[in-house]
Amino acid sequence: MRQSDHSVLKSGMPRPVAPASKVVPTSEHYEVRPLAPGVWAALHRPGGWAICNAAIVDLGGRTLVADPGMTPESGEDLGRLAGELTGRPPDFVALTHYHNDHVRGAQGLPSVAVFASEETRRLLETRGVEELISDRNHAEAGLARARAAAASAVPEIRAHGVLAITYWEALAATAARCGVPKPDVTFEQEMWFHGSDRSTHLLSLGTAHTPDDAVLVVPDSGVVFCADLLFVRFHPYFADGEPTFLATANRSDAWAWRRCASTCTPLKPRLVAWRQQV
Ligand SMILES: [Zn+2]
Repeated sequence: MRQSDHSVLKSGMPRPVAPASKVVPTSEHYEVRPLAPGVWAALHRPGGWAICNAAIVDLGGRTLVADPGMTPESGEDLGRLAGELTGRPPDFVALTHYHNDHVRGAQGLPSVAVFASEETRRLLETRGVEELISDRNHAEAGLARARAAAASAVPEIRAHGVLAITYWEALAATAARCGVPKPDVTFEQEMWFHGSDRSTHLLSLGTAHTPDDAVLVVPDSGVVFCADLLFVRFHPYFADGEPTFLATANRSDAWAWRRCASTCTPLKPRLVAWRQQV
């Protein structure tokens, strides 16, 4: 791969590098984009209940999906899309971090093994449970705030309110019947998934967006799914990273995103898929 290919780290929307081998299926919650042979991004569709973007990888004989969205509906939909694209239902669900919009869709894939880092599993048992309780208690109030913001005369507030309405609508409709997934298989730093056609690498980068964030790397096509480590036209979102990290870490290592970029760049990505545009 060419050195200049690293420039996609800061480029715009991911562009398909290979034509889809099949008709791209449609979905209420996702817009599917082919990225490379056997690799698709399932992008959150405005108004849908996924909220986060997802990945589908045909490993050859096995299918992996990552970050199945915030609701059982989005997870079920992602499984259906994966089945239509690869010819088989998902075998693996990979989670990049513990946030609600990346994990609760696993409930819609009840017979599929869930993989996450050991730290993410611990966070799901603690912060994930707290987040679910909070969502159950405050979803209706959040939705009311979002609707009020959407009616604001201030364009920036109005735009944020419009975006937040879908988020809170989905939580109001589903949080009471959602649980927090318990990953079946955990790893300390990295895990590989192998098939007859390709392998994928789930790689923990440590503290950044949350206390533990992983990226999903597809080496044969140079695709890196960055989850919430990379937003478009939005500064890095650090709210649930470890607040003490910046204060205590060596300053040369203090910028978590710089460290993440330092880890990802040697992987020589050709395409970088990110969280939804905000
Ligand atoms: Zn997140």
